Amino acid sequence: MFKYFVPLVFIAIGSFICLEAVAFDKGDIAKKGIADLRDRNLQEKPVALNGEWAFAWKKLLSPAATAGITTYTEFPKLWNGITVDGRQLLPQGYATYQLTVLLPKNNSPLALFIPEFYSSYRLYVNGKIFANNGVPDTSKKNYTPQWLTSTLALPGNSDTLQLVLQIANYSHAKGGPKKSILIGDNALLQSDRERWIAGDFLLTGCLFMGGLFFFGLYLFGKHDKAMLFFSLFSMVYSYRIVGSSFYAFHSVFPGLNWQLTLRLEYFSLFSSVFLFVQYVRQLYPRDVYKPLAKLISIICLLVTVAPVVTPTLLFTQIINPFLFLMFFCIGYVVWIFITAYLKRRSGAGYALASIAVLMLVFLIINLRYFGYEISSRAIVFAGYVAFFFLQSLILSFRFAWSFQQAKKQAEQGSKSKSEFLSTMSHEIRTPLNSVIGMSHLMLKNNPRKDQKEQLDVLLFSAGNLLSIVNNILDYSKIEAGKISFEMIEMDIEHILHNIVSGSKNIVEEKGILLKLKTPETRLPMVAGDPTRFAQVISNLVGNAIKFTEEGEVSVEVVLDKQTEDNISLTFKIKDTGIGISKVKQQLIFEQFTQADSSTSRSFGGTGLGLAISKKILELQGAILHLESEPGKGSVFYFTQTFPLSKNPGNNPVNTHKQLGKNNEMSLAGIEVLLVEDNPINILVAKSFLESWGAIIEVAKNGQEALDRLDIERHRIILMDLHMPVMDGFEAARKIREKGITIPIIALTASMPGEVAKEIKGLGIDGMVLKPFVPDELYKTVLKFSSPHVTGTVEL
Ligand code: ADP
Repeated sequence: MFKYFVPLVFIAIGSFICLEAVAFDKGDIAKKGIADLRDRNLQEKPVALNGEWAFAWKKLLSPAATAGITTYTEFPKLWNGITVDGRQLLPQGYATYQLTVLLPKNNSPLALFIPEFYSSYRLYVNGKIFANNGVPDTSKKNYTPQWLTSTLALPGNSDTLQLVLQIANYSHAKGGPKKSILIGDNALLQSDRERWIAGDFLLTGCLFMGGLFFFGLYLFGKHDKAMLFFSLFSMVYSYRIVGSSFYAFHSVFPGLNWQLTLRLEYFSLFSSVFLFVQYVRQLYPRDVYKPLAKLISIICLLVTVAPVVTPTLLFTQIINPFLFLMFFCIGYVVWIFITAYLKRRSGAGYALASIAVLMLVFLIINLRYFGYEISSRAIVFAGYVAFFFLQSLILSFRFAWSFQQAKKQAEQGSKSKSEFLSTMSHEIRTPLNSVIGMSHLMLKNNPRKDQKEQLDVLLFSAGNLLSIVNNILDYSKIEAGKISFEMIEMDIEHILHNIVSGSKNIVEEKGILLKLKTPETRLPMVAGDPTRFAQVISNLVGNAIKFTEEGEVSVEVVLDKQTEDNISLTFKIKDTGIGISKVKQQLIFEQFTQADSSTSRSFGGTGLGLAISKKILELQGAILHLESEPGKGSVFYFTQTFPLSKNPGNNPVNTHKQLGKNNEMSLAGIEVLLVEDNPINILVAKSFLESWGAIIEVAKNGQEALDRLDIERHRIILMDLHMPVMDGFEAARKIREKGITIPIIALTASMPGEVAKEIKGLGIDGMVLKPFVPDELYKTVLKFSSPHVTGTVEL
């Protein structure tokens, strides 16, 4: 409903302005050169001075010289083709009209409304020049055409008016008077004039702004030609409202050259028909009969050029045949709109409604053009607003529709991109699995020293590749908005300790220090996503170590605030490394950017880590800050608020069981059912597990696992998730349905967060990520296969 509000307001304002348009008496009042108004109430209603005026053809008589005229003619009436006193008048020529007006007594001040005549006039009232348009003259040389309408106060204290009107035309295809002169109350006529000027300018403003608006949409949108033609049509047509009919434009700029405004007036009419036809062609191309539309367009275009290049006398003749073409076009457009409506084209209902309104407006305008005075300014105004508004709705419809299409395509594109990235990463991870697994196996088989060095490089590079692939996967997930956070109990200090101790080797190798500073009192357990938290800290610590060659890296936790429910902590990761320049500080948080393009060559990395960390923190309401000075080092810090864990009995203790050293035979005798379809994965897992003393039975899919499972023998099931015949999810569900409680460990190449939710509900106890890190595999199997360990989910 709201969409109708604006045009309704305009219609209301416009109608208020226009409705007051004065109705006037237009019966033929003049008889034999005398208009007797003595019994008229001019205060109430203006009177058109129509009827028989004294008339002298081919004479421009002064008021004194009009006394002897005995010829009378109808006023107003064009000279074209009429005969007066047996003389055929021509449109080009000159003539004098005379009328005596008898006024009522005791009048309030009166005024005359004088329209434009074709194409110049001079009006005398009681012997004195009262008004003129241009210069009427008996010779073409001394004549100047002009069109202006005016409302002028008459001299008071006179009960008789002698009107002498000289008209001359040499430059228009029509000649003489076409509209009535009105006489009425001065105040009434003046305010009426102000109203129609205001109304016309208001409408012009609306149309012009609407046109500009659609032109903007065309320029900055999808270059929809329908929009372009409609915007041009609106702008061109807006000139017609003030540049024809009542000539409000001319009243504001009376000095404008007649030739110019006349050309503009005709040009705007011809070109607006051309533009509207083009608009409809673009709007409903499938419903338009192309050859006909082309023909109309060519004719319109030729006609449009005429006012620019031909003399006024020539192009003003085109108007009547052109009006027929225009009516034909309107008829044809109605037909197209009806067809479009029946075929349920977008916005065709509005198109049909708008054209109905337009028909009404045109009917009224043209009835007026052909001499029927219809006082219907309000209807015309409302009609115009309604027409342009309804057309705008069609275009808005189209715009919104194409916008939605574009959005859909973009979404589809982004979805395909994410899917592609995700599939590709999975595909890369499978062979990587094998490379890493095989490298581990070869390292285990007592390689020579040089072979060991080469295998270490191989393993390092494969590990790097894996982290890049994981990062890309992660980032595409964040971008696709598919990331969700867990809210489980977590021990911040423990996670930090793990990260720091995990980096010990590399720090020692580099000869730098790595410190962890935590508050004096142990931090309480909080609720959050430990995986994501560890990911951010690991990334920042990893970077700090990567970019520091001497000095130290420190990880510091500061307690900012603790309430009953929450705790706010600031984490600072400080290094004394290469630092980052101010300019680069802005950039490094973007994906795939590194402070220096040589970075990837000397330090590795993809430039994704910080972008991911920043996003992960942002999604949890924390902002990652950076202070850094090149050559001195950097501090990355953020403050995050965690809800305190609601489980008071759960004191922070080291929840990780200290599992024995990777002892050669500590899995001795443990029977494992390995469910896996990839032969290389089978080979790697089997080799490791057997080297630790475990006994392995292999099933190639879920169904085989169900068949082979022996609850007496098997102590643990290692289950791949994606397999043919029956996948790991289904197999796990079936095993649990049978009431079997043997621990099931998922083997997955997916990111932990990706499948965590799915496997939790299936009774899967743990997860080992592929490619296998031997230590992880060992610890997990040991933990879940020892009889005293209950299967707690640790994902
Ligand atoms: P990556 O380290 O994988 O290239 P990041 O997004 O983690 O990607 O980092 C982007 C860039 O920011 C790095 O390449 C490096 O130029 C710069 N950078 C990050 N951390 C530090 C640091 N602690 N000291 C110096 N430069 C850093």
